[in-house]
Amino acid sequence: MKKLFAILTSLAVASGCHSSFKSLDLVSVEDMKRVVKELSSDQYMGRMPFTEGERLSVSFLADELKSIGFEPAFGESYFQSVPMLMITSKVEGMVKFSVNGKIISFDAPDQVAINSPQPLERVAVESSGLVFGGFGIDAAEWDWNDYEGIDLKGKTLVVMINDPGLYTGDTSLFRGREMTYYGRWTYKYEEAAKKGAEAVLIIHETEGAGYDFNVPRSSSITPRFFIDDKGLTKRCMINGWISAGSAERLFSEMGYNIDMLRSLAAKRGFKPFELDAEFSATISNKISRDSSLNVAGIIRGSVIPDEAVVVTAHWDHFGIGEPQDGDSIYNGAVDNGTTMAWALEIGRMLKRVGKTPERSLILLFPTAEEQGLVGSDYYAQYPPIPMERTIACLNNDMMVPRGKMKDVTMIGYGYSTLDSLYEKVAERQGRYLLPDPNSHTGLFFRSDHFPFHKRGVPSIWAYGCYDSREFGEEWAKSSWDDFIANVYHRPADNYNPDWDWSGIAEDVALAYDVLEELLKANGHKPKMK
Ligand SMILES: [Zn+2]
Repeated sequence: MKKLFAILTSLAVASGCHSSFKSLDLVSVEDMKRVVKELSSDQYMGRMPFTEGERLSVSFLADELKSIGFEPAFGESYFQSVPMLMITSKVEGMVKFSVNGKIISFDAPDQVAINSPQPLERVAVESSGLVFGGFGIDAAEWDWNDYEGIDLKGKTLVVMINDPGLYTGDTSLFRGREMTYYGRWTYKYEEAAKKGAEAVLIIHETEGAGYDFNVPRSSSITPRFFIDDKGLTKRCMINGWISAGSAERLFSEMGYNIDMLRSLAAKRGFKPFELDAEFSATISNKISRDSSLNVAGIIRGSVIPDEAVVVTAHWDHFGIGEPQDGDSIYNGAVDNGTTMAWALEIGRMLKRVGKTPERSLILLFPTAEEQGLVGSDYYAQYPPIPMERTIACLNNDMMVPRGKMKDVTMIGYGYSTLDSLYEKVAERQGRYLLPDPNSHTGLFFRSDHFPFHKRGVPSIWAYGCYDSREFGEEWAKSSWDDFIANVYHRPADNYNPDWDWSGIAEDVALAYDVLEELLKANGHKPKMK
């Protein structure tokens, strides 16, 4: 390490100018391998919050930050304690709807996947009148309000997943097929609660959700994590999903089917309406409270230290769980070991170049991303440098080491002027920008940059993914699909010493070059579009 540093320093001195050597030459693949091998080894037990695996993970990351030369980001500490509330819900008996006096019952979680986000041991919703609320969206900037003229007090709101643009492809309706945040279930839960509904039920459709019913089904019976904000955030008594088949059965009793409801909902001027039906369910909750740690280090800027760029990579994963092929440790080497290595390597490069940035740089490793962006959301509420002075967030997640990629896939393309900066830098590497080809699944809302974006900070998740320099697009797509089908969120997500790191090395250099511009006092200060 010392030797390498000396060589690089002499290189930098010899060239006399930082931009005259290629940043890719500064990337150390060996350091990245070491980081992933360590963080995804069995002794880290799948890096689950609140376990010995957490203690090992956060102390390893803090030691790395310190050894690179990052100062603690939270006063004297590399750690930020995130108070969390964990709720595991269990539905008692059947979920019942009464339509014109006829009782229709469903099994939970197989037909209706509901939970209660309330820190109460028992939650009962009884004979709550059903309201069909279209897509459940109130968006002034799109001149759209599915809540107009209705009082939701004591009512159960039933909504479609996604947003009106998906099914029509009409780009004058929201973003056409690309999902907006209004299409996410998290938004629908938040908005229904704000509008005073007692419960909210989303009709599941695989295309609109981006995943099959098994996902909400299994998450409804596993512990859910929230920031323990002592009731500050409004939540409904019951949240959940109805499977498409169950929704067809229920609505046919009222003379509707999903196609009819969807086309009503997607029409401009839609108005919510009451249904001749009532919803009843009882849930018992197991509640616990604990805290977990975000980890972050800072290099203070020499000119504008109170403005920062934040680079994020969540440290947590799923711990020890259901065994598959005799393995029960969810090591999370790719999700998110390789990305932590990417982030640390960016920090190391800055130190190797030996120039203090003019703005501050924060490397942040949030906790509980897998449980709903809890750590990054908490950081964004209580940041060491305020969100108004955080000029950008560069995130990554699930970087699969499989050689160099020609594309820079931009998850979050079109939301800020970071696009043009990345385009310029990507060109230098002979690469091109690729707006996320699966943007209808809303991946942009599902990783740690999103709490930043939500608060007005230009944010991006950018990496090579879909076009291999060596093997082309088809190969890249099928190797990605193979990762999602066989490795992603499974015990098979293990470290492999034979990985080809050359693509991640290019992604490190890419982020480094972007940062060089962002960290300059008179460099590119991105704006939201
Ligand atoms: Zn991840």
